[in-house]
Amino acid sequence: MNVLVLNCGSSSIKYQLLNMDAVPVVLAKGIVEKIGLTYGSFTYKPEGKDKVVAEQPIMDHSVGMDLILKALVHPDHGVLKSLNEIDAVGHRVAHGGEYFSESVKIDDEAKAKIKALGEIAPLHNPANLKGIETMEKLLPSVPQVAVFDTSFHQTLPKKAFIYGIPYEYYEEYGVRRYGFHGTSHKFVAEKACRILGWDITEKKIITCHLGNGASITAIDKGKSVDTSMGFTPVAGLVMGTRAGDLDLGALLYICEKEGLDLPKANNLINKKSGVQGISGVSSDFRELQAAMEKGNEKAALALDVFCYNVKKYIGAYAAVLNGVDLIIFTGGIGENDNLVRWETCKNMDYLGIQVDKQKNEVRGKDTIISTEQSTTTVMTVTTDEELVIAMDTVRLS
Ligand code: AMP
Repeated sequence: MNVLVLNCGSSSIKYQLLNMDAVPVVLAKGIVEKIGLTYGSFTYKPEGKDKVVAEQPIMDHSVGMDLILKALVHPDHGVLKSLNEIDAVGHRVAHGGEYFSESVKIDDEAKAKIKALGEIAPLHNPANLKGIETMEKLLPSVPQVAVFDTSFHQTLPKKAFIYGIPYEYYEEYGVRRYGFHGTSHKFVAEKACRILGWDITEKKIITCHLGNGASITAIDKGKSVDTSMGFTPVAGLVMGTRAGDLDLGALLYICEKEGLDLPKANNLINKKSGVQGISGVSSDFRELQAAMEKGNEKAALALDVFCYNVKKYIGAYAAVLNGVDLIIFTGGIGENDNLVRWETCKNMDYLGIQVDKQKNEVRGKDTIISTEQSTTTVMTVTTDEELVIAMDTVRLS
């Protein structure tokens, strides 16, 4: 069975075609970028062949999707003989609100709910829906499935998702903690337990998804019980360019001082903050470390703040879980950045956490990085959100 996985943003489409017959194989992948701008770009990488890159205007999502489908069946670099070989399409959908605690096969009702949730996820859900509707037109007989970033966190107890604001804002507008990166947190927790031969329903796990967006989740007996992102993905950890937890009074004060309106304030907390904002150097941890090594104090401070925040959340979630059996690092930073893992986990022996310096010198692997004596196991586990989407698509289509 071949599954096309799509992650549609407002001006981009990330895609992968996977064959799911036995061991999943990525047949082709790539990205369409700068949709709607004068110069769009299209990249396509078929398995075992050279990458194809094209620069051209890509007016809208349907033009972008058409490029993807044509590339997949291209006589030279295609990986399919015909589009009939695409058996299902899986979509990453950002916000499932309280409607979707599971992935779902797309029908009119699902589309109506995804559309309605555009109200609370205006940056993502409309683009996700556009992807679904475009695919319906281009491949009308192919089943489609939506996999939500939020659904894994629908098991949060009310005390973990209600904010300290008038209750009617939850009732009237759905303002509450939803959490994101759910597919990744679930995937790495289950994968780690498979590797360790553990029964997830007996374990207390903290998953740290540290990428450009970053979040931490407390998982009790396989269920998400708390998570650091909130109503939107701007909450929780200090991230690449997102502020994370911030005194709301401070934001109001800055808005007043700088005369910021809502879009500008939104831009400030989402695009100009985080380690980028602190350092003034970069949101990329490789560049931050290079700057720190050259003596840049703000880059060093940004890294310090980041690790300190991850540590604080681990401590908080150990309290929530009443202990922790396993801590997992994943995402671009979590999988690759040994310094962040080391700085985060050091001086946490009160929690039985002891990282082995040598084992920690690892990148992009599924492996234990804690010492034999560490009573809490610490692992790096590679995430694969596209694979989760493909697996759910196979199951539901
Ligand atoms: P993601 O959003 O999960 O793709 O993660 C992207 C981020 O991972 C980048 O912005 C970098 O900060 C970080 N990253 C990727 N590779 C490395 C690496 N080798 N060392 C340190 N950080 C890395």
